[in-house]
Amino acid sequence: MLQDDYIAFISKCKTERECIEFVKRELDSCGYVPLTDKHDKNKRLFYMIKMNKALIAFKLGKQPISHGMNILCAHVDSPRLDIKQNPIFTNTGVAYLNTHYYGGIRKYQWLTLPLAIHGVVCKKNGETKSVVIGEKESDPVFCISDLLPHLAKEQVTKKVSEFVEGESLDVIIGNEPDMKDNKKYKEKILEVIKDKYQIEDKDFYSSELEIVPAGPARYMGLDKSMILGYGQDDRCCAFSALKAFVADNDTPEITQCLLLVDKEEIGSVGATGLNSHLLENAVSELVYNHYSENEYSLRKCLENSNILSCDVTSAYDSKYSDRFDMDNASFLGQGPVLSKFTGYGGKYEANDANPEYVAKIRSVLESKNIPYQVAELGKVDAGGGGTIALYAAKYGMNTIDMGISVMSMHSPWEIINAKDIEYTFQAYKEFLSLV
Ligand code: MN
Ligand code: MN
Repeated sequence: MLQDDYIAFISKCKTERECIEFVKRELDSCGYVPLTDKHDKNKRLFYMIKMNKALIAFKLGKQPISHGMNILCAHVDSPRLDIKQNPIFTNTGVAYLNTHYYGGIRKYQWLTLPLAIHGVVCKKNGETKSVVIGEKESDPVFCISDLLPHLAKEQVTKKVSEFVEGESLDVIIGNEPDMKDNKKYKEKILEVIKDKYQIEDKDFYSSELEIVPAGPARYMGLDKSMILGYGQDDRCCAFSALKAFVADNDTPEITQCLLLVDKEEIGSVGATGLNSHLLENAVSELVYNHYSENEYSLRKCLENSNILSCDVTSAYDSKYSDRFDMDNASFLGQGPVLSKFTGYGGKYEANDANPEYVAKIRSVLESKNIPYQVAELGKVDAGGGGTIALYAAKYGMNTIDMGISVMSMHSPWEIINAKDIEYTFQAYKEFLSLV
């Protein structure tokens, strides 16, 4: 079943690199080839990977490329703790990894959880070492400690925003009661790491190691109606989009595109985020190389495209009912959510989708009896957030957010309804064949 495959996917793919690697394997098995390979006019299934953290795939259609594409775009980065470049320190015989959090987290949620380390270490000789510690049953896990309630009398009076500081999110990785000398213990820990993993002190400078919750995603609830897992924002949409994209690899009427990006959680910045030239560079490769067309075709292709920002939104939570407008909230299990706009305050930093486009999407979903909802993140002025939508919209393309409703979004273990995976997969599939 699709949701079983999804659980296996999020249990294994906990970093953007792991997701892109997974997607690459799936595309390879469906006959997709790298876009920059020796040019072959007969080929029509292509992909391109950027820095191992973003990916664009194309399924060329019958219509000219200047006609535009139907694009599914999701992000594959999730909130987490990154380890610092000089991560190791020790204190009173306890060894720690120093971290710097990534994306919007509620810091207290990361205390006293089993944690795993996923990522890469790049060596001077050009070798890239993959690291995954804390997922196999025989693996050790790691943890950030918390103060015992008996001594927290003063601490509990602090504001939530102050009571765990970013700098104190230190992950415990070892304990040697006799090693009271900090310098000596640090040297010893580094020796252990070198012996066991062939990673040296300075290799951490060129590493990208992420601290994530350890262990697999699970079905949740007596009725197994839900899924509890890490990084469901936005891998539930990325997975549904991938499956919709590869469901049918025959030549479509209009070119289809799967776009998986990084850095959404910190503002879509950097070379692998959507606010870069990633998309137009890949499309230019296609337009110039495959179609031997010009800059005008490239512009037209982007401008005439339809895109879904396949991103999650907040599910109504009755415990925090005062944060939601019931009539404009989304609920678990009621299908993918159309968010006409995101942003904050007076719709700042929103792409407010064109109603003509909303009508088009609504029409196709209703004609196929696919459940969907229309909602906002929360009450006006309760807060807010953005997605990739505004960066896609700058090309002039039709843009709207449509993704899965998530409870306790951005927490280490997020909740979705299992059925929403199937509904969203169906919705994305129908979107791809829009004409
Ligand atoms: Mn997201
Ligand atoms: Mn997010």
